[in-house]
Amino acid sequence: MRNKWFWKCVDILTVDSCRCCGNELLEGEELVCLECQMHFPLVDSAQEQTPLWQLMVGKVPFRHATTLAYYQPHDAFARLIQDAKFRGQPYTNSFLTRLLLQQLEGSGWPYDIDLIMPVPMHWLRFLKRGYNQVSPIVHTLSEVWHVPYEKRCLVRKRYVKSQLKANGEERLRNEAGTFRIRHPERLQGKHILLVDDVSTTGSTLLACADALLQVEGVSISFLTLGLTLHI
Ligand SMILES: [Zn+2]
Repeated sequence: MRNKWFWKCVDILTVDSCRCCGNELLEGEELVCLECQMHFPLVDSAQEQTPLWQLMVGKVPFRHATTLAYYQPHDAFARLIQDAKFRGQPYTNSFLTRLLLQQLEGSGWPYDIDLIMPVPMHWLRFLKRGYNQVSPIVHTLSEVWHVPYEKRCLVRKRYVKSQLKANGEERLRNEAGTFRIRHPERLQGKHILLVDDVSTTGSTLLACADALLQVEGVSISFLTLGLTLHI
């Protein structure tokens, strides 16, 4: 695989053509043409029982849960997520964040959340990849919604290898007990929004929530860019 600087250059040098179909962008279009955007499998966030809500209900107490779109490997939306995740492309990341904000507008979000935090990355993976692709998304949401961004209180204490080939039960087993809390006093009584890029079985969100809910008075909501319902 080429290094991250190569993909950053690709991101910067190809802003005039659609990232999904390659056609030249028309005036007013950014990164992805409107024709391709029309085919994104977006989720209606105004409904209470969103697909992510349905995935998480009964597994852990939470307040709200939604996702931007279904993640279907190999489709245009999934490719954008992969560009942001594995190639660290900043334009792609900001495009996805804008789309997310647009999709959530008028749907009740961000409700009454007190803190917003990304699913943390193990320091070893951070060193390898050089960035946490969810951080800039959370940073922007925090600014737009005027909700404090918290990134130090939830820590990933175990390095879990890529879970792409793991099934649901294996993922749950791998992620259980992976996270720990620092400075619990900063979290007491807060409604916390946990943000991740893609959720497949919900196991990572579940493991984070298990750790956070140990703190007195904490309640949780979930937000992801993509959701794979079947693997
Ligand atoms: Zn296109």
